Amino acid sequence: MVYLNGDFIAKDKASISVMDRGFLFGDGVYEVIPAYNGKIFRPTEHLDRLQKSLDSIQITNPYSHNKWINILNKLVNHSSNTNQSLYLQITRGTDTKRKHNFDALTPTIYVESNPLTSKTKQELSKGFSAISAQDIRWSRCDIKATSLLANVLYAQDAKKHNVEEVILYRDNQITEGATSNVFILKNNILYTHPTGANILSGITRDLVLESASACSIQIQESSFSLDNIFTSDELWISSSTREIMPITKLDNKPINQGKVGAIWGCVFEYYQRLKND
Ligand code: PLP
Repeated sequence: MVYLNGDFIAKDKASISVMDRGFLFGDGVYEVIPAYNGKIFRPTEHLDRLQKSLDSIQITNPYSHNKWINILNKLVNHSSNTNQSLYLQITRGTDTKRKHNFDALTPTIYVESNPLTSKTKQELSKGFSAISAQDIRWSRCDIKATSLLANVLYAQDAKKHNVEEVILYRDNQITEGATSNVFILKNNILYTHPTGANILSGITRDLVLESASACSIQIQESSFSLDNIFTSDELWISSSTREIMPITKLDNKPINQGKVGAIWGCVFEYYQRLKND
């Protein structure tokens, strides 16, 4: 079952017009929200970010906070899987003619929910590989836009190289991953790129910072270079579906001699507690 423009219907019955501006231009925004044991995780934070994305592209939020929660809960409760990943997308709507500029339209609203399987601590403790690449995306990465062409190409590159993520740099400074935020730990200080137009302000990013503080780690929201990664003690990526993932190899070179660090373990445990609160 999915939600489309006011109706809960079977996914194979859900369709939109070819004149939808989401289809024509990627003119829309989205959110991905996890739900654990049937409970939506950090709904306010995700819906606030959705509001910011909508404001940035001049689409009026079609629903109140409560209406969103009702829709999301209905989809989560309908599923037999307790852990879910909710995907919601709002496009500017269906136009009468293909043109770049826009008039006020009725937004197209789509929501689906899929099973979410989190990796266990044991699985994560093996460490993961990543590659680096120049950040070729636009200059409004803070908007969670459905136009994701650069990210699609990065994901394909990751698949080709059989790695978990592509870590991006702009002007020799690491911005974020193609689908995640990036952190390094050095001498008990955790570094991550500051929020702003060059990164998506991850909901998990904030929770990583909270978890690291709880593990007595100092936080520094400042950018760092590719070289800094290779001399770091630990490298992690974070996202709502991957949580906090240790990266032990970048561009085929080991980080921390290819071993997952101890601080990751503490941060992972704290994050699990937040999930179960
Ligand atoms: N940065 C990018 C580019 C992303 O696509 C994502 C998630 O998909 C994130 C960061 C992490 O955001 P969140 O923790 O809210 O999932």
